[in-house]
Parts: sequence; C-alpha cells; structure tokens
Amino acid sequence: MREIKRKKTRTVKVGNLMIGSGHPVAIQSMVKVPAKDVKRAVDQINRLESAGCEIVRIAVEDRDDARALALIKKKISLPLVADIHFDYRLAILSIESGVDKVRLNPGNVFKAEEVKSVISAAKSAHIPIRIGANSGSLKVTSRDTASALVASVSEYLKIFKKSAFKDIVISLKGSDILDTITAYEKMSRICDYPMHLGITATGLPLDGIVKSSAGLGVLLFKGIGDTIRVSLLDEPTQEVRVAQFLLNSFGIRIFGPQLICCPTCGRCEVDLRAKADTFQRLLSDLGPVQRERIKKYKIALMGCIVNGPGEAKEADLGIAFSKRKGVLFKAGKIVRTVNLEKGEEELFKLLRASL
Ligand code: SF4
Repeated sequence: MREIKRKKTRTVKVGNLMIGSGHPVAIQSMVKVPAKDVKRAVDQINRLESAGCEIVRIAVEDRDDARALALIKKKISLPLVADIHFDYRLAILSIESGVDKVRLNPGNVFKAEEVKSVISAAKSAHIPIRIGANSGSLKVTSRDTASALVASVSEYLKIFKKSAFKDIVISLKGSDILDTITAYEKMSRICDYPMHLGITATGLPLDGIVKSSAGLGVLLFKGIGDTIRVSLLDEPTQEVRVAQFLLNSFGIRIFGPQLICCPTCGRCEVDLRAKADTFQRLLSDLGPVQRERIKKYKIALMGCIVNGPGEAKEADLGIAFSKRKGVLFKAGKIVRTVNLEKGEEELFKLLRASL
C-alpha cells in the first residue's frame, strides 16, 4: 500500500506539542467567541480538546482580549495561539499573558521595527510565531495570488532572519483552492519551516468540507503540511471531526475504524443508512482500550448480497444485507447468515469477538 512521505521540515514546539515532519500532523481549530468572554471561550476550548483538537487559536481584538488570555490559559491544557492583526502591541501583551504561539498577518503587521519587537518578546518567552499570510489582506499586490502570498511571506522572513529567529510556522491561505495549493507548493520548495495548512472563507459547511478536503488533500498527498485547520462556518468541533476524517482517509493518522458503506442502488432492499447509523452508535459504546485495538479496522456495511462482499473485499469484517437476512463476512470469507433486524448487532458481536 502506498504511503505518504512527508516533506522534511524543522521541528517547532507549541506548548507541549511538537510540530514538523518528525511529528504527527496536528489538528487545529479556532475559538468562535471573543477571548474576553472567558467562560464561553474556556468551554469551547475544552469541548474542542474532547473532540481531538490539538492546538487552538483565538482572536485578539483589543487589550481586554489579550489580558483575558492569562485567565483562559489557567483553565485549559491545549496549546493556545493568539491571532493578531494590525496591532503588534496586542501580540506582545498576549505573549505576556502566556500564550504558546502568536500568529502575525504580514498583510497588516508589517513595519519591521514592530515585527522585531514581537520577535524579541517571543524569543524571551521561547515561543514560536506563525507567519500567517492570507489572500484577503496581502500587502504585496499581484494578479498572481499564489506568487503574491509567497512574496509576502518571503519579505517577512527577511525580518526574522535579521533577528536570527527560526521558531517559525508558515501559512499561505487563500479562498481559491488552486492559488492556495500553488502557494504552499512554491513556499515548501524554498524553505523548511513547518507549514500550517488551511483554505480560508470556504462558504457554507458542505462547500467548506469539500473545498478544504480537496485543497488540503492535494497538499497532504504531496507530503506538505505539518498542522491543519479545516475552516468551517459551523461548530468548531465539526472542524476537528472533518480534519480527523481527512487524515484518517489518507492513512496519515489513524483515529478510528473506517466504515465502508456502499452508496446503495436499485439492488438494495434495506435502509442501509439507518443500519450504518445504528452500528456507529454501537461503536461508541466501546471503551478506549477496545477502540485503540480496532482503530485500523475497515468495517463494511453493504446494501446487497450479490455484490456487497466482493465490493468490500478489503474490509476486515462486514455485513451484506438482502431483503430477509444479513451475511457476515470476515477477511473476504462468509462467516454466517444472521437475522436481518439484528444484523448490525451481530456485526458488532463479531467485531468484539475479534478483539
Ligand atoms: Fe448496489 Fe449492492 Fe453495490 Fe450496494 S453493494 S451499491 S446495493 S450493487
């Protein structure tokens, strides 16, 4: 089976998390309430952590937000990143509040002396800085957005080089997939800093899932990307779920068993979606040790006996349904026939027996 070879990048430490090609691709999300609303921000961050988020970013709009970060930090364990636009002083204040990383937008924090002040504060605090270019706020103008993103980051990097600062993460997000892919490809050819991947302003949730999966998928396939965020106009925990599915489907990280369900066609005589949903609920009853054991499994639920077992031959185990019964199979071989109504439960029993 083909494996994705990560492009070699430096290691950067964000809180207790190491990022770079020697470490797993980390999943990020962003808090969707103001930092000064400390209680809601902490609740959201803790929900994100339970969902599997590994780094969380938060917008810092004013001094109250920057000061609130110190209170938030006391109540969370995820690495916290301050998202800074326009006012470099908010970055310094956020660093004083104890954040684990700062994101600067080179499109609106660009005066060399100001950037140097932030670098100096980050150096003293031993935290990294993300240079987060965004196609919507580019200072370097060009009809070629990808080149403009790369030029913007390259110019910025000169300031960091003069300050001998290398704890850098780079992102070059656009809302156009092709521009974004091209920008990351170009940038990853000319530097070895870890890349944070994302497509920005992706639209409604379904468009966002498709755009992010397509754009990030191409880059991940090319071995580019050390952290990812799937930006969605949705609950932040959804961003984490989609990111996990994306990494899982490439085999870059394994978060749980892959369910293989056919789309159904005229041969299907059962409500396969309902059966798959029931099976998914049964899976959630497993304890952490059992989940760990099955996380590499492929489990199939197929809509007909004629083609189901064949179409799911790569599955470790599965079930194919007819109008009256279910046929359990394991590693391509039929195990037994089961009652139609109890099919999902029988599949679950077979799974437990194989643990
Ligand atoms: Fe159709 Fe059967 Fe294939 Fe499902 S497994 S798509 S029901 S032929």
